[in-house]
Amino acid sequence: MSEQHQNLAIIGHVDHGKSTLVGRLLYETGSVPEHVIEQHREEAEEKGKGGFEFAYVMDNLAEERERGVTIDIAHQEFSTDEYDFTIVDCPGHRDFVKNMITGASQADNAVLVVAADDGVAPQTQEHVFLARTLGIDELIIGINKMDVVDYKEDTYNDVVEEVTQLLKQVQFDTDDASFIPISAFEGDNIAEASDNTPWYDGEILLEALNALPEPEPPTDASLRLPIQDVYTISGIGTVPVGRIETGVMNVGDDVVFQPSDVGGEVKTIEMHHEEVPKAEPGDNVGFNVRGIGKDDIRRGDVCGPADDPPKVAETFQAQVVVMQHPSVITAGYTPVFHAHTSQVACTIESIDKKMDPSSGEVAEENPDFIQSGDAAVVTIRPQKPLSIEPSSEIPELGSFAIRDMGQTIAAGKVLEVNEK
Ligand code: GDP
Repeated sequence: MSEQHQNLAIIGHVDHGKSTLVGRLLYETGSVPEHVIEQHREEAEEKGKGGFEFAYVMDNLAEERERGVTIDIAHQEFSTDEYDFTIVDCPGHRDFVKNMITGASQADNAVLVVAADDGVAPQTQEHVFLARTLGIDELIIGINKMDVVDYKEDTYNDVVEEVTQLLKQVQFDTDDASFIPISAFEGDNIAEASDNTPWYDGEILLEALNALPEPEPPTDASLRLPIQDVYTISGIGTVPVGRIETGVMNVGDDVVFQPSDVGGEVKTIEMHHEEVPKAEPGDNVGFNVRGIGKDDIRRGDVCGPADDPPKVAETFQAQVVVMQHPSVITAGYTPVFHAHTSQVACTIESIDKKMDPSSGEVAEENPDFIQSGDAAVVTIRPQKPLSIEPSSEIPELGSFAIRDMGQTIAAGKVLEVNEK
């Protein structure tokens, strides 16, 4: 067990082996829930099988998932020598993109799974785009299902080349990416170097996970606590709840809620049904503020210090990446923006610059439109007050997803906020 914590995203195209890899990591690190192992051990004994095979554990996890009991690959935890990892979310989960952006599950680093027999596929591209836009620091790329391609070095090299091109296209620094030939199913190069890949002498997956840089705890930044819900609890009064993204909240602090623009003194903070004197980033808290009633604040408000209040944008400039849009996006387009716990219709007021994805240079000033695959700098006007921060100052509150027609069409990060 270690002290340091990492939120890890497992990304990649459907069926490339994300769930299997998570199962494998849980299994190899001894993190499969005890009752699952126990149950399996009994079954294996009944069937007269010695030892217990990974496939059975996976079956068991899958079965539990179907029964909707507890197992779900998102939110699974495992520990390596260096870190306690939480799998924050996995694409394929319908809300992945949204969660990733709303900070409900901000990942520090990610493992990209690419099946060796399939190579770069549409969701590989989409997730790499997102990882880049949302500031994933380091990417470990597991070229999976090596068993299916007979552990061929040539095939591995081809896929590595294909992924490298993709990373360059989205300007992901390839120095921050490491490639590993793996089989999640057979266990090659996960916890032990595999005899099946004698041509590979790099890090195995657990080593690469251990070597990830330590995430910096955002305690130094100002308090930012996006409100998820507001309850009325008898004996206490109005209790907003949410997760602290940055900074610290102490009993006695003077706080404000923006954009509702009300504030007061923090009277109590509760966490896990216990009163605490202070709370830190990552803590899910319910708290009570003197003089604040249930109708004064709402989901989507951000709580911060009275002397350094959350910003409210009249307009903001952002860098966006268009992931999928059936036609073109022009000025005047007004989709719904999802930022932290807030959902607000916003108008794209102007498209200021289109960027060349391969060089990062400005490709065109004031283009008439942008479309799928384009990266651009745009100016945005929220149709209702929206609290949002420049990504350079508070990255946790500086990114958003743009949704329309039931899907995420773009993601972005805030460059500059023009306050009211
Ligand atoms: P996900 O959609 O990315 O989560 O993919 P899954 O983990 O559900 O895997 C999809 C299919 O590929 C399943 O049938 C797995 O058993 C299989 N699979 C995953 N990893 C491997 C691997 O390393 N080798 C082989 N042969 N099959 C694999």
